[in-house]
Amino acid sequence: MQSLSNRAKILEKKPMTLAERAYLPAIFQGLSITLRHFFMKKATIRYPEQTRPFSPVFRGLHVLKRDEQGRERCTACGLCAVACPAEAITMVAGERKKGEQNLYREEKYAVSYEINMLRCIFCGLCEEACPKAAIYLQADKMAPPRFERDEFIYGKDRLVEPVSPDTRSKRGIQLTPEQADKLRTQLA
Ligand code: SF4
Ligand code: SF4
Repeated sequence: MQSLSNRAKILEKKPMTLAERAYLPAIFQGLSITLRHFFMKKATIRYPEQTRPFSPVFRGLHVLKRDEQGRERCTACGLCAVACPAEAITMVAGERKKGEQNLYREEKYAVSYEINMLRCIFCGLCEEACPKAAIYLQADKMAPPRFERDEFIYGKDRLVEPVSPDTRSKRGIQLTPEQADKLRTQLA
């Protein structure tokens, strides 16, 4: 066959030596590489028990904030979903009913709110687009590993921050000590 370039090198097929046929040099070479790596600094860590420090530009996992009275701030306006370049956010809006003023801050609220963490690129545009200071990304948290794809769809059960002032997210609008005390009294 005619070669396409003149860089082809014809190799001679030499018969194998006795040692090569016994695979001994290859086995010892392989063992020496294994031993060398055994004493080298490990390149891997035991994730998720151990984690590496986050990059300073890492934006983190979303949280839907509550206000000083423990009500959900999100009004389901959809601006975060429109701003999202990955189309990762979906929501269903509902109207607040009589007697639900202590649950939702605005007359309209998100009946369901979902973020697909497999689509999300953690750009933070949803946070910037929100007019109600309702969604923030927490730089100290990330979506933990899961086995099923469905488990990366985060609903309100995992996104809305706890009511208790002591377990709230450190991101976004924070309660003053007086507001936190008032809320603790309400919850008691
Ligand atoms: S961080 Fe970016 S990609 Fe992720 S949900 Fe928000 S806007 Fe969409
Ligand atoms: S998180 Fe903010 S931008 Fe998104 S729907 Fe709720 S209020 Fe609107």
